[in-house]
Amino acid sequence: MSHLLHRTANAVMPVAVGGRGIELIDAAGKHYIDASGGAAVSCLGHGHPAVREALHRQLDTLAYAHTAFFTTDIAERLADCLIAHAPAGLERAYLVSGGSEAVEAALKMARQYFVEKGQPRRRHVIARRQSFHGNTLAALAAGGNQWRRAAFLPLLIETHHIDPCFAYRFQAPGESGEDYAARAAQALEDKILELGPDEVIAFLAETVVGATAGAVPPVADYFRRIRAICDRYGVLLILDEVMCGMGRTGTLHACEQEGVVPDLMTVAKGLGGGYQPIGAVLLSAAIFEAFARGSGFFQHGHTYMGHAMAAAAALAVQETIVRDNLLANVVAMGDHLRERLEQRFANHAHIGDIRGRGLFHAIEFVADRSSKQPFDPALKLHAAVKREAMARGLMVYPMGGTIDGVQGDHILLAPPFIIERGQADAVVERLGDAVDSAIAGLPA
Ligand code: PLP
Repeated sequence: MSHLLHRTANAVMPVAVGGRGIELIDAAGKHYIDASGGAAVSCLGHGHPAVREALHRQLDTLAYAHTAFFTTDIAERLADCLIAHAPAGLERAYLVSGGSEAVEAALKMARQYFVEKGQPRRRHVIARRQSFHGNTLAALAAGGNQWRRAAFLPLLIETHHIDPCFAYRFQAPGESGEDYAARAAQALEDKILELGPDEVIAFLAETVVGATAGAVPPVADYFRRIRAICDRYGVLLILDEVMCGMGRTGTLHACEQEGVVPDLMTVAKGLGGGYQPIGAVLLSAAIFEAFARGSGFFQHGHTYMGHAMAAAAALAVQETIVRDNLLANVVAMGDHLRERLEQRFANHAHIGDIRGRGLFHAIEFVADRSSKQPFDPALKLHAAVKREAMARGLMVYPMGGTIDGVQGDHILLAPPFIIERGQADAVVERLGDAVDSAIAGLPA
């Protein structure tokens, strides 16, 4: 009997005992291609020598110093690295231990910013349906995933949700991308006006929607319009790049491809590549200066923020990405993976959509392609695909069910940035077999 309560109370999981390159190995000696990077985390794969070496070095130097007493050279260097590569305008980094902590901190920064500016009436957060921002209470409140929130509703702050920019599900037949971008962004302006422009703190969105809707990129110009609306009403734009950021879509930050700079940006997952738990909030000079001129500090903090081991891992991961020019591989292998997915699935009767950017892709399953009718959520096709994939030594990230009124099943692919062509081909081959087998196993 396991005393570890992690996933479901009774699930039997393989025991991971090793990892090298893009593979994980279980206690029975079976190898799995980590085509999901865990949950879009393992950007350098497993056991990377540069990170191992950096962690050994840091452990021999200093593992931990509390931020109430010290800063550390390694945390300072990581912050310098993050800001050196951040979109112009983001000038400070706040280091935490993961994605939810980053989102919590960003929301509190947004609120404190307006308090410092003498606008305490500003209190509303607007976010989007079919989104996920973490499992701590404020992040959960911001996420638009009703089934995750249901049990905890009495504990959640009020958050207001609009539809995401999700072309496959929400772009009307015959509607141009431009018109759809305008309509999707207008939902934000309508919501701000409904709530009262002087009462809204921030709009929070994933630049490319992650697991909840499945690697959904925005249509062109959506975020430029969102940025303009936020500016019009003095509302802060928070982009959550915990999953889609740090190189996953082919640029270091996904918002670079949208031509917008947020006021606050959250990153995690690929920041430390899974070698240590770490996340960060990158914030604008204006927000930092409001704290500096006001109460003098951001009223927040965690015991492990800026942890030296975590900073060492993240710095080694980020320096390796630059040194080995891995973003070029993300673009090249992303294109190759996309091409192979399209060859394998474009005519598949039950694949409705293949979407994503860089090494961040999803395939969505449908019962009927022309009507986009999903499978009955009770069949849990996504879970069956994951099971069949695991049986074939392949990790894919499943999601499905009814999320804020939209039904659907998809799996997410987010392999390490070091993946090679032959490995990407193997991913698609195993995935194809897993999908066919899962669908064949559905009740007639
Ligand atoms: N934000 C997004 C977009 C995420 O995908 C996730 C996790 O999947 C989080 C926040 C929460 O991150 P963590 O699980 O590290 O707390």
